Amino acid sequence: MNPFIQLGIRHDIVNAISELGFENPTPIQEQSIPVLLTGSNDFVGLAQTGTGKTAAFGLPLLELLDFDENHPQALILCPTRELCLQITNDLKNYSKNVKNVNVVAVYGGASISDQLRQIKRGVQIVVATPGRMLDIINRKAIDFSQVKYVVLDEADEMLNMGFQEDIDSILSTTPDEKKTWLFSATMPSEVRRIAKKYMNDPFELTMGEKNTGNVNIDHEYYTVRARDKYAAFKRIVDFNPEIFGIVFCRTKIETQEIAESLIKDGYNADSLHGDLSQQQRDKVMKRYRERSLQLLIATDVAARGIDVNDVTHVINYSLPDEIENYTHRSGRTARAGKTGVSIAIINSKEMGKIRQIERVIGKKFVKAEIPSGFDVCEKQLFALVHKVHNVQVNEQQIEQYIPRIMDEFKDLTKEDVIKRFASLEFNRFLDYYKNAPDLNATYEEGRTRDGLGERAPRERGSSEYTRLFINLGSVDDFNRGDLLGYICNTTKISGRTVGKIDVKGVYSFFEVGNGDVNQVMEAFKTIEFNGREVRIEISGEGVSSSERRSGGGGYKKREGGGGGGYRGGERREGGGERRERSGNTGGGFRDFSGKRREDRPERRKRY
Ligand code: AMP
Repeated sequence: MNPFIQLGIRHDIVNAISELGFENPTPIQEQSIPVLLTGSNDFVGLAQTGTGKTAAFGLPLLELLDFDENHPQALILCPTRELCLQITNDLKNYSKNVKNVNVVAVYGGASISDQLRQIKRGVQIVVATPGRMLDIINRKAIDFSQVKYVVLDEADEMLNMGFQEDIDSILSTTPDEKKTWLFSATMPSEVRRIAKKYMNDPFELTMGEKNTGNVNIDHEYYTVRARDKYAAFKRIVDFNPEIFGIVFCRTKIETQEIAESLIKDGYNADSLHGDLSQQQRDKVMKRYRERSLQLLIATDVAARGIDVNDVTHVINYSLPDEIENYTHRSGRTARAGKTGVSIAIINSKEMGKIRQIERVIGKKFVKAEIPSGFDVCEKQLFALVHKVHNVQVNEQQIEQYIPRIMDEFKDLTKEDVIKRFASLEFNRFLDYYKNAPDLNATYEEGRTRDGLGERAPRERGSSEYTRLFINLGSVDDFNRGDLLGYICNTTKISGRTVGKIDVKGVYSFFEVGNGDVNQVMEAFKTIEFNGREVRIEISGEGVSSSERRSGGGGYKKREGGGGGGYRGGERREGGGERRERSGNTGGGFRDFSGKRREDRPERRKRY
């Protein structure tokens, strides 16, 4: 008998999930389905993403709800749009043979009227992100008075994103007798607290040891000097020719810089971060899913809810600020019973963080060596040989060319031909890695092998300057002179204290004296440019002006009003000096109006 039937799932649904390739229940499904099917328990499931938890709660829901009734009976709250769509899609797939099942996805960043229309038509299961759900509740457009089950999926993530109050408000509109099922990858004290708050003696299920990551993930770390990090990263990638990976960076700038460098160096890579529009993000994800991209460079926030199977490697280009995030990152690989590797590229000072992570995931990291140039060449060579050996030959198409090809090769032995094919790719790598140095940093606690200790990569500018990132660039019609004027007028710092200015496409870098950093960050706190929030970050640190403003927490209310704006007239004063410094050779001055930003409704996580 099909094991899902044995668990109590009806034939119609089992047939549908069989088509999805679900032959046997995953451990979490095996253990939670019988409990949830009773419909009489609150439930806490500690499970990583990728363990099959959507079906673990989705299949019992489909069994328990009455689809002859067309009013909301189940509410599933989850942290991100991606996850919301994923769950909705999964539930629709599981229930495709069941009549009258209506599932609606409610999430921000899409037309609310479409969602309202779907709700009005009648729905039994609402899958929602908290912000948009609350909006719809406040419009009195939904009635949760007959909700029987509430699922809080990725509860730790929802709390991380600051949704606690929204969840409270939403749940207050559901009946007291409902059952609450909570799933979380980790169990920080905040999650424990909401479990206590909303639940009555819940059934607790921990997959594996408490806080243990997926056992199918191997964790490795590589120790390198800061200045060798990118080269080391590329070497790791080159050593894994079949890599299909997600690379995590700490800041949007780093994400973009790494992706740009990789693209320039000929890799199939792109970045995913919060400055992209939803449409751009969807496009990047589509390319990644279709494997047109081999490497996805992402921030933690942007990568939430990504559900792509067969990710072979997660690479922590920078370790996350919050240890808990490591579990989320590494959980993007080794999904659905597969294996995967999670790699951390660190400097010697970060060893302590590795030990902390080990305690959280309950598993040891293996210290790995950055492969030598020779190792990489050998690996690539055999990958190529393997590829040639296994390539599908289209006999029909190639046949007509064979005589000419044979003719070209007639003076070569079989061995010569093989050597030449192998050399095609191999030469490129040999060339690149000809004099490749050893990138492994052999440290004793905090000291490099030259005995000087780890140095910050300060090759750009001098140590009296701090390099800042600004999300304005040549696409906003700035050249160096314009940008200098804009900075000076907005911040009231002297142009003389501004160092190197580097204008890129959608962003730029500029240096200011260390003593002026706070004044600059303060001044840009509430500035808009053409309706867009102007963002300043210390290059490489990821502390933005908006985050400083909020004291590291969520968004604070700000007063409206103007100020800090650039006026064309003021700009002219001292313009000559600035022009000289910046090399601006002319052009009229533009009037950049620095408007205060409106408070934004969405939540932000602190980084
Ligand atoms: P989830 O943790 O729900 O995001 O599931 C992770 C992946 O595992 C998804 O791609 C599911 O389609 C797949 N999956 C879930 N349950 C099973 C199962 N019993 N057998 C095979 N694949 C599954």
